[in-house]
Amino acid sequence: DFNVSLPYLGKDELGDLSSSIQKLAKDLAHLKNERNEFLASISHELSTPLTYLIGYSKVAMRKGLTEEERAHYLEIIAEESERMRELVKNLLDLARMDETTFTVSKEHFFARSFFENVCKLVIPSYEIKNIKLNLICDEDLQVYADPVRLEQIILNLLDNALKYSNQHSEVSLKAQKSKNKTIISVIDNGIGIPLDEIEFIFEKLYRVEKSRSRLFGGSGIGLAVVKELVEAHSGTIEVKSKLGEGSEFRITI
Ligand code: ADP
Repeated sequence: DFNVSLPYLGKDELGDLSSSIQKLAKDLAHLKNERNEFLASISHELSTPLTYLIGYSKVAMRKGLTEEERAHYLEIIAEESERMRELVKNLLDLARMDETTFTVSKEHFFARSFFENVCKLVIPSYEIKNIKLNLICDEDLQVYADPVRLEQIILNLLDNALKYSNQHSEVSLKAQKSKNKTIISVIDNGIGIPLDEIEFIFEKLYRVEKSRSRLFGGSGIGLAVVKELVEAHSGTIEVKSKLGEGSEFRITI
């Protein structure tokens, strides 16, 4: 029984409806395209470290290597695995953050010992590049945040600061109180970001210059995750950067 009564649509309304449908179809096609680009990029990012892992494990298994040579290859294998793990972690987080169930559980904790532990995680890779990492934070400073998420935010920023700094330079992690908020900055004197690109760096998959990407590795996911995590804390993130001089990422939570 198809006795459904349709509201009467005039010529104008039919026209509106048809252009709305056309717009939806266009948006959908655009989304599909974006999704495909995203998948292609992720597949590429995951297959690069895999290529290294396979190559270097074969080399490490060769007979007649010295102890040092084998250790060197194993070190590369460990580093590449680490990179892959970070990438997968970021991807999973991006996917979860799109779900409505994503929450942060904030608590009060002392910032100094927390940041010291985060720094410990990155010190080995900083040492390899001879970059000094300074921590500036009062002993009694307290933050109100989700410690697991905050660690991820800081690790991503410290990872970038390292990646985009030259050997023998310095990076500072600074935390200070401002009224009832905490300002956390990661400051480097690395290669900097071109002024006209700053507004895009928090977009998923956005990377400054393709040539830069090939040189430094990375996927253009880190800052998108950082921004979403900061916003999930109802916080803000700002960037100051000068090409050839360095960058400062400043979070207020
Ligand atoms: P990636 O994996 O490419 O580092 P991100 O999302 O973390 O992805 O960063 C996006 C882009 O922003 C990077 O490609 C890089 O060019 C630029 N960028 C991020 N952090 C820094 C920094 N500390 N110094 C210079 N450029 C940076």
